[in-house]
Amino acid sequence: MKSSEIRQKFLDYFASHGHTIVPSSPLVPGNDPTLLFTNAGMVQFKDAFLGRDNRAYVRATSSQRCVRAGGKHNDLENVGYTARHHTFFEMLGNFSFGDYFKRNAIQYAWEFLTKELNIPAEKLWVTVYVEDDEAADIWLNEIGVPADRLARIAGSDNFWQMGDTGPCGPCTEIFYDHGPDVAGGPPGTADADGDRYIEIWNLVFMQYNRDESGTLNPLPKPSVDTGMGLERISAVMQHVHSNYDIDLFQDLIKAAARETGAKDLANNSLKVIADHIRACSFLITDGVIPGNEGRGYVLRRIIRRAIRHGYKLGQKQPFFHLLVEDLAKAMGVAYPELVEAKERVISVLKQEEERFAETLEHGMGVLETAMKSEDKMLDGETVFKLYDTFGFPLDLTADVARERGITVDFAGFQNAMQMQRERARAASKFTMKGGVEFDGQATEFFGYDTLHVDGHILAIYKEG
Ligand code: ATP
Ligand code: MG
Ligand code: MG
Ligand code: MG
Repeated sequence: MKSSEIRQKFLDYFASHGHTIVPSSPLVPGNDPTLLFTNAGMVQFKDAFLGRDNRAYVRATSSQRCVRAGGKHNDLENVGYTARHHTFFEMLGNFSFGDYFKRNAIQYAWEFLTKELNIPAEKLWVTVYVEDDEAADIWLNEIGVPADRLARIAGSDNFWQMGDTGPCGPCTEIFYDHGPDVAGGPPGTADADGDRYIEIWNLVFMQYNRDESGTLNPLPKPSVDTGMGLERISAVMQHVHSNYDIDLFQDLIKAAARETGAKDLANNSLKVIADHIRACSFLITDGVIPGNEGRGYVLRRIIRRAIRHGYKLGQKQPFFHLLVEDLAKAMGVAYPELVEAKERVISVLKQEEERFAETLEHGMGVLETAMKSEDKMLDGETVFKLYDTFGFPLDLTADVARERGITVDFAGFQNAMQMQRERARAASKFTMKGGVEFDGQATEFFGYDTLHVDGHILAIYKEG
């Protein structure tokens, strides 16, 4: 079954059970300035859960585009290292706003997996929050999951909260066993972190409201919020272990091989590039542009990481933007906004590629030389130089170093940055009156032609 078919089957199933199909919201959340990116299906429904927003429906379903590359949820460092994490992914979800609760939520999930998708029940494992007897009872006595495939978990993985106060409650998670060929133990055991038992679906039961004193007060109308990764369930349905082996990713990996000249389709860099073209294209579609702070800097970092992987494969010319066509072919039917924004996405990426190409090769030379020393730690001065002079974001340098088993001296990096700032401040005492422009706004004058502070590029202007 193709991923596009699974997406549709999910929405149709929940629509047939009274859920309104709600389109994905953009990656830049409109209702929450504190959130970097939309990172779950529930984000666009936040106010509905809080009872602040009255909607025409009490049940909804969606396939939400998500990015987890910054803020509380950051999977950027997992990409290329696990079989199941992406920076961009689609989250299938069903939601109840004060309507059905645990029993129906669990029944729907189980029926969808075992009847609609025909997944053998014995391949599925579940976890519940350690204190949630109600959910455990439904799984064991109503669904009939054997006790040895249910784990009670005490940690925060199985207790969800929106913030320090507000709605919260226990979760139950469903895992799929990819079989003994893959390393990793079942949920709840010490080696559960592997890729054998993969979490596919998380059901959150919003049951309490935590007040200022930390007390959990029962909500009069508890709600349900669920999320299932489309790429993970596609891997299950396509009998492959890694998300990168599903239809959608294979098309992108082939395109990345074509544009970089890579011969081996299993090369890890191709997976990273395939992941990153999705994140970058959708972020640009949704209005983010590469820049030196906030969302724009996250985007710039992801683009530069992708370019560096192309470089590693031997491609020194701009190639990344050429994958946008392939992505539009793979995902344009589900996301027409991507097709509409295509030309803009291509030109933004191309410009960013050309810009980084000016310093990448030289910077890589500096980095290679530094990594040749016997040290297992890269000195902060070099990391700062790469950042400041060659436009290497800290995480990019750390990623290259990680591939060689070398760590980065973060404290030394911060020190070097601090010294630069102090030099700048001292220099400003001797310069003429003037100012600098930062994002078009005049600020303090530092006395440099161009100065990078915290990733912001400051440019001097003269007064008068
Ligand atoms: P994990 O423990 O594997 O990191 P999670 O518990 O952080 O996942 P949730 O926040 O519960 O994930 O999100 C709901 C579902 O979304 C998960 O069960 C999974 O199927 C999917 N998902 C979460 N993060 C990613 C990701 N980075 N890439 C792809 N799918 C993801
Ligand atoms: Mg996670
Ligand atoms: Mg988890
Ligand atoms: Mg989870």
